[in-house]
Amino acid sequence: MNLPKIKAKQWAYVGGIALLAGAWAIPVGPKTPPESVTMPPAAGKQVVEAPSTAPEPSREAIRKHIVVAGDTLIDIAQHYGIDIETLMAANPGVSELIHPGDELVILPRKGVIYQVDTGDTLWDIAHAYGVQVETIKAANDKNSDDVAVGEKLFIPGARWARANTAVARSSVSRFIWPTRGEISSPFGWRWGRLHAGIDIANDIGTYVMAARAGRVIWAGWRGGYGYTVMIDHGGGYVSLYGHLSDYFVERGQYVRAGQRIASMGNTGNSTGPHLHFEVQKDGQPVDPMGLLP
Ligand SMILES: [Zn+2]
Repeated sequence: MNLPKIKAKQWAYVGGIALLAGAWAIPVGPKTPPESVTMPPAAGKQVVEAPSTAPEPSREAIRKHIVVAGDTLIDIAQHYGIDIETLMAANPGVSELIHPGDELVILPRKGVIYQVDTGDTLWDIAHAYGVQVETIKAANDKNSDDVAVGEKLFIPGARWARANTAVARSSVSRFIWPTRGEISSPFGWRWGRLHAGIDIANDIGTYVMAARAGRVIWAGWRGGYGYTVMIDHGGGYVSLYGHLSDYFVERGQYVRAGQRIASMGNTGNSTGPHLHFEVQKDGQPVDPMGLLP
């Protein structure tokens, strides 16, 4: 039976992904026996049907190196043509001391592995590492912009030095405006009580977007707030969107920053169409103006 050439390429491609997926699960250490670094083509059933215009595989498979006596990290990095930062970034449990039998993950090229944290978006990650979203998607064979908490992404070209700081440190600046309109009431004391958010007035039905990526923890009626959505962004941050006329998310759902979640309304204790936008940090309301660009 004759397979067209493109088909054979796709098989090898899927084989590489399978090996990659396996590599994440392998702890660095001497416990597991050495395995072959090559994988046979995946069985026919595992081949995902792809259009003939599917891009070429964007990388080679991630490999493993079993440390032998006398190996040093620098030797290993040089052997595989990567730098030592890349080698160490891929093996966070490994210090300068390596032992015969240790298994090291060898990335196919310079870069780091980033584990997606709560609230991260692909844009945040790309921005933090100074690489294009499309570059990350291609390197990880992703078709979608969605990322899942805990997902490990290979960031080609990124340097280890930035790996641990870049994304986490940029979290505060990650809020975006949740809607368009006029600020009709600021954060602060009004009529003897704290107005715990800002009011943004516009027409009923104006789009309301998630101000930052996160997980929906409330979607429904909430007393004086009327129809309300609340999103947990991690790091102690929760945002609240009140007086909505309608909402399009449900509790537990993960949303991206800028994703439309609701429509502006006039429900609950509201004197006119507006969005009440509130941000809490560790349970305390903070002025959203200090977080918005
Ligand atoms: Zn308000």
